[in-house]
Amino acid sequence: MAELIVISAPSGTGKSTVCAQLVKQFDDVAVSISYTTRKPRGHERDGVEYHFVDDKQFDSMIENGEFLEWARVFKRRYGTAKSDVEKLLSQGKDVLFDIDVQGGMNIKKRRPEALLIFILPPSIDELVHRLTHRATESAQQIQSRLDAALRELEQGRKYDAHVLNDTVKNAVKQVDFLRKKARQNEELIRLDEKLEDLIAEANSKLRLTT
Ligand code: 5GP
Repeated sequence: MAELIVISAPSGTGKSTVCAQLVKQFDDVAVSISYTTRKPRGHERDGVEYHFVDDKQFDSMIENGEFLEWARVFKRRYGTAKSDVEKLLSQGKDVLFDIDVQGGMNIKKRRPEALLIFILPPSIDELVHRLTHRATESAQQIQSRLDAALRELEQGRKYDAHVLNDTVKNAVKQVDFLRKKARQNEELIRLDEKLEDLIAEANSKLRLTT
């Protein structure tokens, strides 16, 4: 049976790249395209990275019960449309959700069979480096992403499985391995020790930068 697979990670861990590669490499994997009220960044196109909508459209989708889940992230709203997900599942595809931890937990509540995968950055230095080199964002936006990254890392404890993003190739291989394990109801891979090390490192380093 096709799976719902939530992929979450601290901002800057490269989860969107991993999701894009999974879709490219496996015909039976599709990504759920979220709706958002934020403006497109850089080369983002409507209907590819997100469906970009205004507040009025987002409000009416909430009123009509069209979302499987929605959340406010960095003062903007993001949501997953039920109909898109059902359509992909009916085509026999595993559906990836490239969403934040609140979204992941909400999906798990509504669809307990969902597989929740948390992607870990190789190190905190690497995470800080990636976040501070995004040219599209202001210093204040970067700071709020660093704060969020620390809080998000802690949420990784609640996920079913962990994947280390040392290289995109390895991370993609691991997610593919996990989705096959989940289909067979086999035990999933958790990297609890690595996660705790990262949390401890983030607590000392990120707090110094704030
Ligand atoms: P960004 O603005 O950088 O594309 O995304 C900001 C955050 O919103 C990311 O953590 C992203 O995963 C999350 N996000 C994207 N789509 C959704 C969604 O449909 N629901 C929820 N809850 N979060 C989402």
